[in-house]
Amino acid sequence: MRLARFSYNDSVGYAVLDGETLKVLDGHPIGELAYTGVEIKLSDARLLAPIIPSKIICIGKNYLEHALEMGTPAPKEPLFFFKPTTAIIGPGDPIRIPSQSDDIQHESELAVVISRLCKDVPVERVKDVILGYTCANDVTARDLQQKDGQWARSKGFDTFCPLGPWIETEIADIQNVDIECRLNGKVTQKDSTASMIHSVATAVSWVSQHLTLLPGDVILTGSPAGISRMNPGDIVEVEIEGIGILSNPVVKDV
Ligand code: MG
Repeated sequence: MRLARFSYNDSVGYAVLDGETLKVLDGHPIGELAYTGVEIKLSDARLLAPIIPSKIICIGKNYLEHALEMGTPAPKEPLFFFKPTTAIIGPGDPIRIPSQSDDIQHESELAVVISRLCKDVPVERVKDVILGYTCANDVTARDLQQKDGQWARSKGFDTFCPLGPWIETEIADIQNVDIECRLNGKVTQKDSTASMIHSVATAVSWVSQHLTLLPGDVILTGSPAGISRMNPGDIVEVEIEGIGILSNPVVKDV
């Protein structure tokens, strides 16, 4: 099932996307779904970031080749950091390059959306707290990341967390899906979630041992190798098998 968030005329809502039809939900898509009976053609609506979480947690260096391209060993335990929710944008929204950086790079990542309040989730029960999956771009000001020594600024600018196009709730084996990033149509990142150092279940469990997860929270699971610089005028696409394509233009902030 695809869960989408959309705007239509002056209203914003959640819907189940069935083919090209948005079946509008009463309230939010967490827990028991209630349909309003209203249906909207996808082409008449605008898709938004599919969820507004209380927090975005990102796993760093979770693909060995990416850790190596960063010039660092892979962390033995899942390494995580936060992005502010104000960084979230939806499909088609522009990534704005801030004046403070000369090196903005993409990181295509599988994002996990949490379904319920939880803490200390055992690995084998993580599937019970996952609502579904979407595509994410952990946009990073690489020069500021290296300069600052910690990542709050370099990962936290407005527009630095594109999410979408929707949440897919049914994926048979999340550790065996292809993930790809394209910059202006050219493939820059290509790997499989099978290459993750720490699996989705391990990463979610690990995070939940440190802090309470709330319904809708988003966990980015790390980027494959091939991070590349983006420039104004570029189009960046994150495609994940079984989910879809998240496409965003890149513009200079003014
Ligand atoms: Mg990342």
